[in-house]
Amino acid sequence: MNDHVREFRLRGTLGTSAFFGVRLGEVSTEVHWRPRWIEMSLYRRHDVVMGADGQPVQPLQSAGARQWILQTTGRTLVYHQQGSDCATGVPTLADRLPEDAEPCDRCRPPGPAALGEDDMVAMEVDRFMLHVCETPQELLAAMADPKVADGRLSGPAQGLLAQAAQDDPELASATDTVQWLTG
Ligand SMILES: [Zn+2]
Repeated sequence: MNDHVREFRLRGTLGTSAFFGVRLGEVSTEVHWRPRWIEMSLYRRHDVVMGADGQPVQPLQSAGARQWILQTTGRTLVYHQQGSDCATGVPTLADRLPEDAEPCDRCRPPGPAALGEDDMVAMEVDRFMLHVCETPQELLAAMADPKVADGRLSGPAQGLLAQAAQDDPELASATDTVQWLTG
């Protein structure tokens, strides 16, 4: 991918983190028939020196400290009846729902077309998580964490690592030594 070091600002559980680095890859499990999906992006953070012009001086890939930063985002288009047993989502005016919002199939709120613009529903919110990893081994552990990615994500996580390894010799050699299970 793009090997140019630049500034990134990424949302995590506790707000936004900023750093200089490169994006190594990204994957998504989005398919049009599922209203929830996961996106994963992987970055390598670099220590940079700011030049006299205020711009970061491009570091050598091998120079200085680096970390791997994994962002996992849980996306959702699902909304619920307010006060339903599903007990999730935030109160939202029907008028403010995303165009492609989908009613929960357990508590069955009215479909988007049947909602009045003043009706309130409980819209699920996207979840952002950041993992800052000091070594490739830490990164692999973060990807395998069931709280981050359950078994169904093993395919996309492998795809992300394969993308990243093309631009990152350290990741390439670390993943060479790992036995990936498939299925
Ligand atoms: Zn529901």
